[in-house]
Amino acid sequence: MRAMVFHEVGQPLRFEERPIPQPGPGQLLIRVLACGVCRTDLHLVDGEVQIPQPPRILGHMIVGEVQAGGEEVAEGLGDGARIGVPWLGWVDGTCEYCLSGRENLCPNARFTGRDIDGGFAEYTVADARFCLPIPASYSNEQAAPLMCAGLIGYRALRMCGDARRIGFYGFGDSAHILAQVCRWQGRSVYAFTRPGDDTTQDFARELGAVWAGGSEDSPPERLEAAIIFAPVGSLVPFALRALAPGGTVVCAGIHMSDIPAFPYSILWEERAIRSVANLTRLDGREMLALAPQVPVSTRVSTYELEDTNSALDDLRAGRFTGAAVIVP
Ligand SMILES: [Zn+2]
Ligand SMILES: [Zn+2]
Repeated sequence: MRAMVFHEVGQPLRFEERPIPQPGPGQLLIRVLACGVCRTDLHLVDGEVQIPQPPRILGHMIVGEVQAGGEEVAEGLGDGARIGVPWLGWVDGTCEYCLSGRENLCPNARFTGRDIDGGFAEYTVADARFCLPIPASYSNEQAAPLMCAGLIGYRALRMCGDARRIGFYGFGDSAHILAQVCRWQGRSVYAFTRPGDDTTQDFARELGAVWAGGSEDSPPERLEAAIIFAPVGSLVPFALRALAPGGTVVCAGIHMSDIPAFPYSILWEERAIRSVANLTRLDGREMLALAPQVPVSTRVSTYELEDTNSALDDLRAGRFTGAAVIVP
């Protein structure tokens, strides 16, 4: 099969021919139909998030078709079933986190496209227990961004409680999905982009944001919550300053540059800062049930498998709105 393989930090992914992987017990062989490109992939390529055992095939927003192994594992996963493979690829099921509904924090968790070969390839294998059903109303390309941008974004949104005014710092793949969910839930979204990025600000308004501006601007009303999607620690004090008392800043990414020192007064009055790590299978099932009800529509730019490095470059440079999806 054809695959894009990570070998070394700072090097582009290498196009290679590889044998089709063989599923082990409880695993499915999956033909990849589409795979989204995530900012986490940039962090992996850049070495900000470590890949313990390279070489590795990245890609963790997989939509695929079950080729073999499904019937024995679970009902509905027969050959030909369309499924999604998310970032959470395996947990031990026995630690205190797994046993308390927080498998996203399992210290032995294995992640797709980091610890397990992922979806920038024609085929992959995945533990059937971590695969998710893809809503029938979505095309392969349209469904792919839901698998991480949607799922982990949904977890970040949950951390905002019932906040009605929510700021999004960075309006990329996650925010463009969540803006639609928020509008449907009756919440108001305030979109913060790179200063002067009119294209993205227009895109945010198109998706229902009540206000869009630069990341250092003050919103017209104080926010009850803010989610920071951009991996930029200096946004944290800006987001804190935009919050009403009691508000929360949620950092949604796996990596962020250092957060600068800030005066205690902008945290005072029960404001909070927290991160969101990974996802649980419950997050996945809830979000994939919710998406077709809204219905969330994703904007995607598609790339051939061989062009995965261009997709990563375009993501880094902010050259598209919405999400990038590899179609092998
Ligand atoms: Zn991701
Ligand atoms: Zn565990």
